[in-house]
Order: sequence, then C-alpha cells, then structure tokens
Amino acid sequence: MSTQSATQLISINPATGQEVGRVAVTTPEALDAVVVQAWDAYRHSGWKERLPHQRADVLRTIADRLAAEKETLAVLQMRDNGKPLSECRGMVDYAVGAFRYYASACETLETSVTPPRGQYVSFTVLEPFGVVAAITPWNSPIMNDATKVAPALAAGNAVILKPSEDAPLLAPELVRIAAEAGLPAGLLQVVQGRGAEVGAALVAHNGVRMVSFTGGTATGQAIGRVAADRVIPVALELGGKSPHIVFDDADQELAVAAVISGIFGSAGQSCVAGSRVFIQASIYDAVLERITEQARTIRVAAPDAPDLEMGPLASFAHRERVEAFVERAREEGGRILCGGARPEGAAFAEGAYYLPTVIDGLAPHALTCQEEAFGPVLVALPFDDEADLIAQANDTAFGLACGIWTESFKRAWRVGRAIEAGSVWINTYKQSVTSTPFGGFKSSGIGREKGLDGLRLYGEVKSLFFGL
Ligand code: NAD
Repeated sequence: MSTQSATQLISINPATGQEVGRVAVTTPEALDAVVVQAWDAYRHSGWKERLPHQRADVLRTIADRLAAEKETLAVLQMRDNGKPLSECRGMVDYAVGAFRYYASACETLETSVTPPRGQYVSFTVLEPFGVVAAITPWNSPIMNDATKVAPALAAGNAVILKPSEDAPLLAPELVRIAAEAGLPAGLLQVVQGRGAEVGAALVAHNGVRMVSFTGGTATGQAIGRVAADRVIPVALELGGKSPHIVFDDADQELAVAAVISGIFGSAGQSCVAGSRVFIQASIYDAVLERITEQARTIRVAAPDAPDLEMGPLASFAHRERVEAFVERAREEGGRILCGGARPEGAAFAEGAYYLPTVIDGLAPHALTCQEEAFGPVLVALPFDDEADLIAQANDTAFGLACGIWTESFKRAWRVGRAIEAGSVWINTYKQSVTSTPFGGFKSSGIGREKGLDGLRLYGEVKSLFFGL
C-alpha cells in the first residue's frame, strides 16, 4: 500500500507499517512526453516490423531475466502489498510464463489469405494499435502487468503501464528488466499516480489508442465512458462475487478445502475469490460447520512466515473497508460464525490483519451477498435443487468465476453451462494458465485476456483486397 502526496507515492509495508520505497508522481507534462516517446518508439524502433520470432527472442529474454530475479521481485511485491511470499513467488512464475507464452503466440499473427474469388484475393492482418495503456490494480501487480504487457508487445504495440498507486514498485522493475533484455527504448514505459488523476489523464489522452484495464467495476465503468466518447476499444477485467457450489454428492473433504483456499487465499483479495458458498440444503449444516471449523484454525501470520496460511490485508485503509463491510453484514442480520474482528496479540499490532470471517443467515439479496468485499469474508447460502441454485448463483451483477463440486458429470455440465461466468471450475478452483482465456460476464468485464484471445485484444483487424 502507499501514502500519497501531490508529487510522491510512498509504499508502506502493510505487515509492518514501514516504508518500502517511493516513486515520483507523473506530471501532466511528463505524461505528454511519455506518449510522444511511445509513438516515436512505435514508429521508428522497427519493433512492429520485426519478424515474429525476432520479437519473441526479446520476450523470452524478458522471461529469463524475470526468472533470474524471482526472489527479489517476490520479496518486493510482498512488501509492497503484503501478500504471502509463497503467493508472490507464484505470481513471478506466472509473469515468466506469460512472456514465454506470448513469445510463442507471436507466431500465430501470420496473415490469413482468402483464396482468389474471381476478381480478387484478400489478405487479413492484425495491425497493432500503436500506443496502448495498461492500467492495473494493487492485488497482484507483477502478474497483472505481465498479462497485459506481454501480449501487447507481442502484437507490436508500445505500452504505457499505469500500476496502482497502492502498489507502485513492481512496474518500474518490469520496465527496467525489459530494457535490459533488449526491448527498444520507449516501447514500455511506466506512469505513476492516483487513478483519478494520472489514470484518468492517460485514458483521456489523444495519443492512447486502446486501454486494457483490470480493477474495480466502478472504475471500469468510468474508463468505459471516456473510451466510448473517444471511440477507442477497452478491455475490462473487473470485480466478482463468485459462487462456490457444493452439491450433496460432492467429495466434501476436497470441496471444503477448496472453499477455504478459494476465499481465504490472498486474504480474499483476488478477483476470483469464491466469496459466496452455496451448499445443498441436505448437507448445509454439516458442511458449513466444517468450513467454519477450518476457517477458525487458519494460521494468520506475517507474509514471510514459513507456515502462514493468510497474511495481512494490503493496506490499513482497505482493512477499514472490510470492517465496514462486515459491520453492514451484522446490520443486515448476518450471523458471524467466525472472525469478524482483528486478530489479537502483539504480532498483529503493527499490521493490517483481519481474521477469516464466515457469515450466514442472510437473504440472497442482502448487500453482503451482492457486493464484492475483496477481503477474507465468506457468505454461506443454502439451496434446494439445481433450479434454485442457478437462480440464486446468477442473481448478482457479477459473472467472473464459479466453482462446482459434484461427482456427477452431467450435473456439472448442466450447471456449468447455466452459470453466467467466464471461468467455471469443476472439482477444482482458481486454476489459471496463460493459454486459457479469462474474463467476465456481465459487470465483471468485457473481453478476454490470456490465450490467443488475449493477443488479439491488442490489434485491429485489417483486410487488404488485391484485384486480379
Ligand atoms: P481500482 O479500480 O481502484 O484501481 C485499478 C487501477 O485503476 C489503479 O491503477 C488505479 O489507479 C486506476 N484508476 C482508478 N481510477 C481511474 C480512472 N478514473 N481512470 C483511469 N484509471 C483509474 O481497483 P483496485 O482497488 O486497485 O483493485 C481491486 C479491484 O480490482 C477489485 O474489484 C478486483 O475484483 C479487481 N480485479 C479484477 C481482476 C480481474 O482480472 N478481473 C484482477 C484483479 C483485481
């Protein structure tokens, strides 16, 4: 997390309250200069004219260098946003994989040809946009940055990366590593500052031709409005209130473990957190008791403690938001089965810690069941049958992800197809690979990142017709 002044962002470690580092806020004049330099690099560096395998060489070198600096980057991210070190290591691995995947995917950008049709032959190519903006949130900076930067560069663009003001330290490292790997100067630059100022100015800038955004739904809507006025494309990866479903024929041990890690991993600060658990009525009490029991025994500790299961929240301000969320759940009539408070003890005094929290007894329409907490807060809801479940699970504005636990393939297929979500995990949860598209239905977003869809996001389709 960071504290902010007009000219500086100061990153504060949420586990200790200590300063980690600081970066200068990009002024409006500096933003203009960044955009000019990005266009210059796009037009004159020869990057987009390189053969795919030549761009791929640089992307692979970036991957190698990220891998070589894995530990330093993971520790920096842990201090910048408080995520457990083991998760931060996984995110660096993910970033490495993203650069490797899009190095290979470059090759798919070949021209496609429609064979001669009487008087013409046509060729279809993907043209880069030129300069694209990548705007990312604080929860997984190195992973989210790589998910945008790697395909945007692979497609031939120049990229201006705007990390969150609450986790500003990883993006400059990625820019440095890319430069050391041989990426031409100006093709990847970073701007820093508050979203409402520097982020908004970037989206509104005439020199930016496409915006790829990951963050909250309200911010995505604001960006979408500006993009609509400017008639530029946007890709939006937004929030979620993902249902995690346990049917009466599920392997309960595996299901309960997945429900626990699905919401309390990353202290719930994950867009795909399974924040609503739907349990079939006949097994509701028994499964909820197991979930509550396990949630109570989760080991909350410092992000670099060797055996921790959950670290602090990313900032003290964010903990206050989560506390207000749980307070409102109480007012709505929710029963707090565990958590609902800060952990006690000297070890937690300096950090933004909060206990794993399980709530039940709420109506599906309660705001607690509808809005994203983005924290370690699980709401439990019973359901009678498939029809009841599907109606309840789909009855939110969001549609990012879903988990289904059942031994019946047919039921998994039926429910998996009926759920309005971009990712459906059956007898597993939170799996993610760069080669598989990811994104949301409804208010969870527009467009798909990852996979080849995630590459095609970063170009305009052009068809050229030759008369014969
Ligand atoms: P946020 O929307 O507050 O900020 C995200 C980024 O947008 C930051 O860099 C911020 O500075 C910038 N920003 C804010 N206002 C802006 C504006 N008006 N114009 C341009 N940029 C602006 O989100 P956050 O609090 O950093 O992250 C949490 C949210 O992100 C959660 O809702 C979470 O679900 C979502 N998220 C989604 C995904 C996904 O892939 N779907 C992944 C991670 C996080």
